[in-house]
Amino acid sequence: MIDLKGKTEEELSNFFVSIGEKPFRGKQMYQWIYYKKESTFSKMTDISKSLRDYLKEITFISNIKLLKRYISENKNTEKYLFELSDGNLIETALMRYGETPESARSTLCISTQVGCALKCSFCASGLKGLVRNLTHTEIIDQIIQVQKILIGERIANIVIMGIGEPLANYENLIKAVNMIKNSHGIGIGKRNIVISTAGLVPMIKKLACENTGCKLAISLHGYNNQIRSKLMPLNDRYPIEELLDACRYYQKITGDRITFEYILIKGLNDDLSGARKLTRMLKGLKCIVNLIPLNPVKHFPYEPSNILTCQCFVMEIEKYGINATLRTERGRSINAACGQLRARWDAKQET
Ligand code: SF4
Repeated sequence: MIDLKGKTEEELSNFFVSIGEKPFRGKQMYQWIYYKKESTFSKMTDISKSLRDYLKEITFISNIKLLKRYISENKNTEKYLFELSDGNLIETALMRYGETPESARSTLCISTQVGCALKCSFCASGLKGLVRNLTHTEIIDQIIQVQKILIGERIANIVIMGIGEPLANYENLIKAVNMIKNSHGIGIGKRNIVISTAGLVPMIKKLACENTGCKLAISLHGYNNQIRSKLMPLNDRYPIEELLDACRYYQKITGDRITFEYILIKGLNDDLSGARKLTRMLKGLKCIVNLIPLNPVKHFPYEPSNILTCQCFVMEIEKYGINATLRTERGRSINAACGQLRARWDAKQET
């Protein structure tokens, strides 16, 4: 049986030609799967019954399975736990930004791997290491499945910063991104897609030449190598200097502004002299620093910086001419930090 989900428009056209049909059937099927988010052949009424019956015999349209949907008390964050066909679990999170429900813009944070090899100390996803890469189909299916259950609400932005290191699953990432952008299907514009990395230097350089048009975010989290290595072991392999060189290269090729994510952790990386060091490091880069108070996880013995410290840190950075935003912590009531839901679910199954 052939899975039609995951095939590009061209691959679908080739498939239909291979079974003696006209190539336009490919575009038709592409729209059913990715635009209308349909996976039941009998509902594809513009396809003849005989062809639908034949498709049922030789093909299928896979779906990752929604196990749980969690909604935060204030309804601005949702989290989904999906089961893959091999029983592995992944998480996807939806965040609503905006003053009113009518003006809210929804951003979906999607995963690219089951687990993660990078073992950042503040993250629950790295606890059990990497299990496997997601296929490009599993990456885009998170968007399809969530969009299907949202009523009257369109996902406007995609951030690829859920479980896993996206650039460590490069080929599937690029294929998924190209399909997310295709206006005959999911149709989310390149400027509304953010690819986030913990700092895989060679892959940042490779991405620079890929011409995806997507935005790049870098998890920085420390203003010197000592702090960053404590939080992100990857820093021992690619220290801050090399990472920022790769960012400069990326910017030279793409001309794009880069976002630096920085988790504020009480007493560890939130002092004002550190804020000043950060601005010196980033000098000359067209960038914005996204500051986020730590979302506590059980195994990491630190607390988020208090709100006053966060605000002072932001002001100090801006004083030196670097744009910065302070994001509010979201979804603590539903374990919205990366990997917490999966870890909690696994623990529950093991008891
Ligand atoms: S923060 Fe991202 S890169 Fe680091 S362990 Fe978690 S999933 Fe992996």
